[in-house]
Order: sequence, then C-alpha cells, then structure tokens
Amino acid sequence: MSDNSTGQDQWGIDTRAIRTGHERTGEQEHGEPIFPTSSFVYGSAAEAERKFSGEEPGNIYSRFTNPSVRTFEQRLAALEGGERCVATSSGMAAILAMALALLKTGDEILASRSLFGSTISLFDKYLARFGITIRYVELANLEAWEAAITPQTRLLFAETPSNPLSEIVDIPALADIAHRHDAWLAIDNCFLTPALQRPLALGADLVIHSATKYLDGQGRAIGGAVVGRNKELEEVFGAVRTCGPCMSPFNAWIFTKGLETLRLRMKAHCEQALALALWLEDQPAVRKVHYSGLESHPQHELARRQQDGFGAVLGVEIVGGREGAWSVIDATRMLSITGNLGDVKTTITHPATTTHGKMTDEQKAVAGISEDLIRLSVGLEDLEDIKNDLATGLNALA
Ligand SMILES: *Cc1c(COP(=O)(O)O)cnc(C)c1O
Repeated sequence: MSDNSTGQDQWGIDTRAIRTGHERTGEQEHGEPIFPTSSFVYGSAAEAERKFSGEEPGNIYSRFTNPSVRTFEQRLAALEGGERCVATSSGMAAILAMALALLKTGDEILASRSLFGSTISLFDKYLARFGITIRYVELANLEAWEAAITPQTRLLFAETPSNPLSEIVDIPALADIAHRHDAWLAIDNCFLTPALQRPLALGADLVIHSATKYLDGQGRAIGGAVVGRNKELEEVFGAVRTCGPCMSPFNAWIFTKGLETLRLRMKAHCEQALALALWLEDQPAVRKVHYSGLESHPQHELARRQQDGFGAVLGVEIVGGREGAWSVIDATRMLSITGNLGDVKTTITHPATTTHGKMTDEQKAVAGISEDLIRLSVGLEDLEDIKNDLATGLNALA
C-alpha cells in the first residue's frame, strides 16, 4: 500500500514531483521500482475473468498498464494539473495517439505553422491520407486562428514558445477561440514543461510532451505523454492500449526520476539561458537574439504573464549568413553539434539545414528560419565555458 495516500491534493508542486504515484510494494523499497514484465498473473481462472472483463481493476499486460509507467503518468498528471496522463513510446507517438483517439475522416486540424518538423510530417503525410485536413496559421496571430477555423475544425494545435524563435501565443485567448467553436486546444509543452507553464490551468484541453527532452533532462531515453481530462484521456488510453505505442517500464523509471529534479533544473536552465542571451546580444558578430526572456522580445510581457520562466532555447542570428553561422558552430570544441535539446549538455545546431531542412525556401522564409540562424539549447555547464566555446567563432567573425 502507498504511504502517500493522505493529503496528496494539498501537496505543493515540489512534493508531487518527488512523491506522487509510488505505491510501495511488500518489499518496503524506498526508491521507485522498475517492473520489467510483459504480463501479470492471477490466483484463479475466476480472478482472470474478472480482470479481463474490467469488473475488477488490476494489471493484465504491459501494453495496457504497468506499475512503473503508472508512477510516471500519475506524477506528470499531478505536475500538469491534469486528471489523467497516458505515457507513450515517444513524443510523436503522443501526438499520433491523441489524433487516433479524437479525430476521424472529415475533421480538420488548425495548427501553428511553427511546429516541430516531424509533427508537420505526421499531419501532412499521414493524417492527411486518412482524410483529415490540416491548415496552418501564424502562431501569435489570434485573428488568423479565428479566421481559419471552420465547423469541421476539431483540434487546435500549438507549441509555445516556438522553436527556435520563441514566438508565443496567448493560451487563454486561443482556448477561448477553440471552445467557442467546439474544438479542443492541445499545447505541446515540451519547451517549458510544467515547471514553467501549465497550459491546462490556462484553458487548454490537452497537453503533449516529448519526455525525451527536459523531463528526462539528460538525453537518455525516448518517450512522450498526453495529459488532460478523464473523458478525452480514456480515448487516448484506448488508442495506446490497442495500437501499441506504449512506454517501456525502464524508460518510465528514467522519466519518473527526471521529474524529481525538473523544477530545479529548469530554474538553472533559465538562469543560464538569460545570462547567455544578454552576453550574446553584446557580441559584434551577433545580429539578433530571439528569447522571450529579453526585454527586446516583442512578446516579453505576455511571456511574463503566462510563463513562470522563459526556458533555455535561444535562436541567434550571426553575421555573414550560412557561412558565418557554420563557422561559429564548427569553431566550438565543447558544445554538442546535435539536433536534440533539453539536455544538461549545451547543444548547438543550424536549423535551416538540419531540424528544419525539409521545409521549402518559402516555408522557411515565412517561419523565420534564416540561413544565419543558429539554435542553442543552453545546458548546465559552467557559463564561462559555454561563452568561451562560442567566443572563438564569434570573435573570428567580428
Ligand atoms: C522532440 C519534440 C517532439 C517529438 O518528440 P520525440 O520524443 O522525439 O518523438 C515533439 N514536439 C516537440 C516540441 C519536440 O521538441
């Protein structure tokens, strides 16, 4: 039995991150156990019948439920303020499971045009094949969302802040538009995590996570989650249970342990990112820094209002076009040249030729993915070491 059964509703966010969801077994373990088992056994044929029919709750098979996965789900739900969470094998699987659960042929998705590249491919290449129409609008432009919505629109989908330019949408206002048209609002909360932004409390209906990023925080495992109300999440659970993109118990354990330090890490990431952004703004070889924590950011006030922090992803425009940007990347010795983000290790990438490389020149121009842009996911190494590694390339250009 759990020793966590009393007063959990009153727990603060740090206590939830550390204690929610662990039901201690008869072994009296202190740390959360990993249950690497595909199935579960019964005392009798009659008990098996009751479990399979749903008459009696309990585990059957790890594609349906697994105690390690449930610990992660309950903990993330508690942090996001959702009634229920369903874990998935990746962030992309979370988006797919949500779509399988809630949409049908003839429905429309209205999405921000500033989305993770694979999300756009999932929509345009796969969902479109099943007769779902997808249209894209400018993230921050509420009139554009309102104008593009139709009676067939069932889902509004956005990432805020956007990658890599930190554009922001007013979540309560967007939720209002969705609800006036009888549609759901889903927010991909990967960049800020519940430590810095809780979309459900701001009016969103569903939260999507790539746990691969900050929830893990140390670049070890791939996973995802959908969080929201019981009603919709029961459908998402059904889709994952039947279609199979479930999370492994071992990965769930990694993410559970990641959640315990999430708020501390996010606070440290934010401090580092702001300090680095301010330093970069002063470098002669830097044309512009995109970060919602800077007063120069056009939506800085909105960011302050709806976020508890500004995250740690910076878009930085370098003098000298692609050549300049590449020379800064190639001059680094410590930073990791990789497309991943949300790691304690600082990563650097050239979006136009990697993460956003599949976009047409026109799509890139509209989304602001210029050739001179680099993206930094600011990690937790010593700030001086990060600066020094960037200074080599920047000073050569200045
Ligand atoms: C990485 C990412 C995803 C996809 O997650 P995976 O775990 O890689 O499948 C979705 N949305 C955003 C914003 C991401 O950064």
